This record gives sequence, C-alpha cells and structure tokens, in this order.
Amino acid sequence: MRMILLGAPGSGKGTQGEKLVAHYGIPKISTGDALRAAVAAGTELGKQAKATMDAGGLVANEIVIGIVEERLGQDDARKGFILDGFPRNTAQAQVLDDMLKRLGQPAVDKAVHLAVDDEEIIKRLLDRAQKEGRADDKEDVIRKRIEVYNAETHPLLDYYRAQGKVMTVDGVGSLDDIFNRIIKALG
Ligand code: AMP
Repeated sequence: MRMILLGAPGSGKGTQGEKLVAHYGIPKISTGDALRAAVAAGTELGKQAKATMDAGGLVANEIVIGIVEERLGQDDARKGFILDGFPRNTAQAQVLDDMLKRLGQPAVDKAVHLAVDDEEIIKRLLDRAQKEGRADDKEDVIRKRIEVYNAETHPLLDYYRAQGKVMTVDGVGSLDDIFNRIIKALG
C-alpha cells in the first residue's frame, strides 16, 4: 500500500497515520516530523527551515523533496509507505510521481482525504498548542497554516482525483471510528 494522507493541519493525519503504520506494517514518512527533528538537532537544514515553519509557511520544495527521496530509497519503504504532510503542493506531487518511477517503485495507490471543517481545525490546534506547545500552534500562525493549506494543498485533491485515487473520509469522531472509516474506504 502506497498512501498519501491529505488534510488540513490538525485533521488527524499524524494520529491516523500511526494507526495505519501498525495496521499495514509499513513506515510513515512525515516531512513535518523530519523538519522538527532537524530544527531540534540544529542541523543546517533545520536552520534553513525554522523561520518559515514558525511563520506557518511552506519550506522550500528542494528541502522537503530531498528528505522524502532519501527516506523512500530505504529498504523498509519498498513494500509500501504512508506519506503524512507531503506532497503539499502540485509541484511536489509531480516530483513524487517522477521519483517513484525513478526508484523503480509502483505509483501511489490512494490519497486519503481527512475532511474536517475550519472551525473544528482551529479548536483542535489551539488545544494541541496548550498540550504540546508546538511553536507553530499559535492562533495567528494557525490561521496562516490553514490559509496555506487551502491555497496550496487543497488543490492536490483535484490532482489525485484526476488519477482516480482520492477517498474522502469524515475526520470528525472518535479516533477508532475515523480509523475504521479509513480502513473500510481502503477496502
Ligand atoms: P506538519 O507537521 O506536516 O504540519 O508540518 C509543519 C511545518 O513543516 C509546515 O507548516 C511547513 O512549514 C513544514 N512542512 C512540512 N511538510 C512540508 C512540505 N511537504 N512542504 C513544505 N513545507 C513543509
């Protein structure tokens, strides 16, 4: 299974992604996690990305593409993967399609879209801000990230719809209910 998780920040991609890892036994590749790790480790890449992340913008395509290419080239990703937070714009989606061809891997099977409305998203992210204290979970940055999602990432639904790969799942409810909806939709 080669799967992309699509949805606004706070739609549950990370949480459901973890459950899918356990279910399918394939790795999850999260560009957000990789970037936060690079920032925490103080690497050159982390330094380049930090200001953009703190402002809720998108980090340069070359940076995230490099992260994904390296990870997809590792052995455990050959039998499948769950992408969380990548691709984030149409250019990244096109690069991903080309990259899989180049790596001799089959194309993406499904793009799972977790649908959650903006008000619920803001509520969840403010709640997460209190619990986890992520640097980009502040109200003005949250609004910016939702704006960026709607402008840059949401159009990816059309990209994957054109390939017949989108499955939209209601992302509101208990974690188990949402997970069961995803599994059912994946068949
Ligand atoms: P996330 O944890 O997926 O919400 O990502 C946190 C932040 O990392 C985003 O707001 C972006 O600044 C950056 N980021 C993560 N993935 C990407 C990506 N595919 N393209 C550009 N920036 C990204």
